[in-house]
Amino acid sequence: CGIVAYVGHREAAPLILKGLKRLEYRGYDSAGIALLNGHGLKVYKKKGKVSDLEGELKDKELKARIGIGHTRWATHGEPNDINAHPHYSTNKRLAIIHNGIIENYAAIKQSLVNKGYSFESATDTEVLIKFIEDIQTNMFCTLEEAVRIALHEVVGAYAIVIIDEENPTQLIAARKGSPLVIGVGEDEFFFASDATPIIEYTKEVVYLDDYEIAIVKDNELVIKNLANEDIAPYIETVELEL
Ligand code: GLU
Repeated sequence: CGIVAYVGHREAAPLILKGLKRLEYRGYDSAGIALLNGHGLKVYKKKGKVSDLEGELKDKELKARIGIGHTRWATHGEPNDINAHPHYSTNKRLAIIHNGIIENYAAIKQSLVNKGYSFESATDTEVLIKFIEDIQTNMFCTLEEAVRIALHEVVGAYAIVIIDEENPTQLIAARKGSPLVIGVGEDEFFFASDATPIIEYTKEVVYLDDYEIAIVKDNELVIKNLANEDIAPYIETVELEL
């Protein structure tokens, strides 16, 4: 299972697909990508290999400078196109990719169902993005705040990246228990499960720690803990051979 996300000046789709292939050794059953351009948020996902997803994307308009990509190792819900990531919020403005397990997803899902939410997939991940959406809607807060509030309630392990149609220069990521590396380039940022999809573009990386949230917006990286305190990013230089 793996995560690759990008925001910057390059074409996001080929970069993300290439990155997902570098993470194939981690094992997976489905793959998907969400891209944001002038025409809104588009999600493509498919059971099978990254090459199957690429086949699906052949005749699609993929121009975008920001996107998130995922390879799934199913834990909740069988491997199929619908359960593949990214998953949308109800308003289709947010999309999430997630590696890990939300252990208390059933209780959160039940409370959302009671409020009228419905679910397309059988995943714990769709529950998380709709939980975040619900917090954002009801508390009139920013996405960053909604993510932080949601993660206080979540039990389990996660590496997540969220893309928001309303903020086309922003990616929000967080981790607990599952790895997440941030590549810091010149006016571009990368997120990945390990450094292998990143090092071709930059050797400067930040290893996100448990209970940290990374916000990239308008070419700036801010890292905070779940108490909303700023964490100075510790940038390391990786010396990996491709
Ligand atoms: N628990 C999530 C799912 O089953 C994520 C699995 C993964 O780590 O790829 O969809």
